[in-house]
Amino acid sequence: ILSARGVRKRFGELEVLRGIDLEVRCGEVLCVIGPSGSGKSTLLRCFNHLEKIDAGRIAVNGELIGYEPVGSGGTTLRERRPKDIQRQRERIGMVFQRFHLFPHRTAVQNVMEGPVAVQGRGRATAERQARELLDRVGLADRADHYPGQLSGGQQQRVAIARALAMEPTLMLFDEPTSALDPELVGEVLGVMRDLARSGMTMIVVTHEMGFAREVADRVVFMDEGAVVEAGRPDEVFTAPRHERTRAFLATVL
Ligand code: ATP
Ligand code: MG
Repeated sequence: ILSARGVRKRFGELEVLRGIDLEVRCGEVLCVIGPSGSGKSTLLRCFNHLEKIDAGRIAVNGELIGYEPVGSGGTTLRERRPKDIQRQRERIGMVFQRFHLFPHRTAVQNVMEGPVAVQGRGRATAERQARELLDRVGLADRADHYPGQLSGGQQQRVAIARALAMEPTLMLFDEPTSALDPELVGEVLGVMRDLARSGMTMIVVTHEMGFAREVADRVVFMDEGAVVEAGRPDEVFTAPRHERTRAFLATVL
């Protein structure tokens, strides 16, 4: 469903992504681990064109992200029109460390915002779907609360419901639990685990090694803008092949 080939990105002098190759199949859960500054967030942001890549190609559902071929050769690319980029982003859900909910809207209003404003869905249908999604993340009884009346874990679950409301084919998570108090981490990971079991394709940047071990189909270890090692969780966690992976795991496990 997602294919990245030779993806490079630099910020001035600093080359943050140095040729990333990655494949994610439909229904697969990929966890990305690695030290701070290794380029994990930048890579996720490239996947929905929040960052423009300097080289390489990213395709989701067989369509190049952010760029389109010009002419007949297919080797020259130009950036897509904003409308196309917007359309591509709609099918890629993203959940960040911070929840970014609208503070003056209730949970259900936050969840139905996208379908109503972007997809042009009727309010009644959108609200019914939003309530179903909030039920799915265990928040049926909090649907009419404002973000300020919800815990961090509840707000993050609203953020997940909001992303799901757009019916994404792929969900990206960037350290969704690292801003939460420890006792709230479990409820968010639980929702993500259910989502994984339901067959959602997910790419999860996380420091939660227990989650990666249990839920991921594959784990990718990144360091200094490159994929150092990728494999099944039992391979990467119990028998890492690279010294850098071993050194990193020793600091987090
Ligand atoms: P963390 O685990 O701390 O979230 P990360 O692996 O997500 O780290 P990135 O946020 O992708 O790392 O950052 C990779 C490098 O790129 C860092 O050195 C960072 O300072 C730099 N960087 C990220 N965004 C920008 C930007 N907009 N402009 C300049 N440098 C940036
Ligand atoms: Mg990051």
